[in-house]
Amino acid sequence: MDWIASKTGTLLNSTVQIIDQVVQSGSSFEATLSPAAMKVVKGVMGNDVLSAGFFLMIMGSFYTFFKDLFVRYYYEIQSWFYVSVEVQEGDDTYKWLSEWVAERPLTKSVRHLTVKAVWDEDSDDDDYYSNNNSKDERPRLLFMPGMGSHVLYHKGYKINVSRDRPDQASGADSEQSRILASIQKKQCLTISTFGWDISRLKTIVQDAMEESYKKKEGKTTIYTSQPYDNYWSGSSTRSPRAFHSVILAEGLKEELLEDITTFRNSSQWYHDRGVPYRRGYLLHGPPGTGKTSFIVALAGHLNMSVCIVNLGISGLNDQQLDRLLNNAPRNSILLMEDVDAALVKRKAGKAQEGGNNVTLSGILNALDGITAQEGSVVFMTTNHIRKLAPALIRPGRCDRKMLFDYADKHQIEGMFMKFFLSRPPVAPKPARKSSTGSATAPAAPSLDLDSKEKGRKEAYDDMIKRTAAKMAEAITFKDSVTTAQLQGFFMLHRDDPESILCEVPGFLAELAHE
Ligand code: ADP
Repeated sequence: MDWIASKTGTLLNSTVQIIDQVVQSGSSFEATLSPAAMKVVKGVMGNDVLSAGFFLMIMGSFYTFFKDLFVRYYYEIQSWFYVSVEVQEGDDTYKWLSEWVAERPLTKSVRHLTVKAVWDEDSDDDDYYSNNNSKDERPRLLFMPGMGSHVLYHKGYKINVSRDRPDQASGADSEQSRILASIQKKQCLTISTFGWDISRLKTIVQDAMEESYKKKEGKTTIYTSQPYDNYWSGSSTRSPRAFHSVILAEGLKEELLEDITTFRNSSQWYHDRGVPYRRGYLLHGPPGTGKTSFIVALAGHLNMSVCIVNLGISGLNDQQLDRLLNNAPRNSILLMEDVDAALVKRKAGKAQEGGNNVTLSGILNALDGITAQEGSVVFMTTNHIRKLAPALIRPGRCDRKMLFDYADKHQIEGMFMKFFLSRPPVAPKPARKSSTGSATAPAAPSLDLDSKEKGRKEAYDDMIKRTAAKMAEAITFKDSVTTAQLQGFFMLHRDDPESILCEVPGFLAELAHE
């Protein structure tokens, strides 16, 4: 208020003084002004253009004064009549609320939106068994309010939505650090409504959370981080990959599953002994042997999410890595892929070029410091275990080291049968509602195969099993074929399993030349 008083006083004093003097005429006027000033005033009064300019100058001062006043006190006055809830980027509530807002129509006056392409992966659980034609798929466009204020109506109430980023650090010394600072500033999303009852807004946040959980039910969420992020900004949800679709060396999958399940049921054991409740796994072996596929399938099987830490990402430093690992969403597997690659790149001196500043000690500290999340599961993958520092893979950081090797007999047979055995009958999808509201008849295949067809199917499957055994004779572990290469080969001949054996020599010769 002092500020208003002083500004008002100054402005009014000077204005009133001048106007008084101009309006007054004759000797009193002459007496109060110096001769030079008097000359100026007379000049102004006698000239239409100058007096109009003088008038505009006064109006301009009034405008600036009231504008400053308005800007300064608008939000304070508004806050007396409104209740609001603010959420910050990086927190789960920000994602929930952003989606909630995006799914509701904003009023027509909205002119600034941000848009995100969202792929709803509704496919069946396995890339082979899935029936969808990906060429025809389109992403869903998710329109969210852009920076600034917006309005939507919810259950008859007007809800103001504003999205903004706090002022960036103006003291930053270079343009690059200013950009960095601005990227790192978290965006805020605020919802507010007229009145003093905050419960309406609390219910909105609660509903937003419920909706988000409902959407993720039975799905695997994969989180990623973006350059310069301190949090998991990207996420995509997909149907879980079927656990049986990953074919590993005999017993390996079951062994890993049992280990992780035991760990997840042993929190008391860890607490009683004062041992940090976390478990690390290192999966190593040639590329294309199913390391990543296994981790994603495992997450789906255990109803967990996956957070992929890309150590090679430009701009990631030790502090950010530490924050990322400690702020992983609950119930998630942390996956650090190709751990050797990031450190090798740094040794070669290329780190500076990419702006990648993750160090070995940074990774070790981040791994040791994972405390925020009880029951953390960390998976690391590498194609070159020998390149890893022993400190990185010592027990406590890596409790189990599993080799994912070239395909053996069991895997070759398993992969072949996965591709060529008769498909299990497809369960009918729920009927879709037609535009008139009535359910259209589902075009579901009958699950009751007649006996003739059943016989044909059994004969076909027997042939596939025999061919699978022969395939495992024709290709051996010594040929150093990965499961990914087998997948490519079988895909190429997916419509002709009977003659595929003849193609094996050509396939192996091709691999030998690579
Ligand atoms: P890695 O992580 O070892 O490099 P990926 O998991 O990325 O290998 O596998 C690459 C591709 O090969 C994926 O499409 C995956 O479906 C297939 N693949 C590789 N190994 C297996 C496996 N053991 N079982 C099933 N599919 C596999």
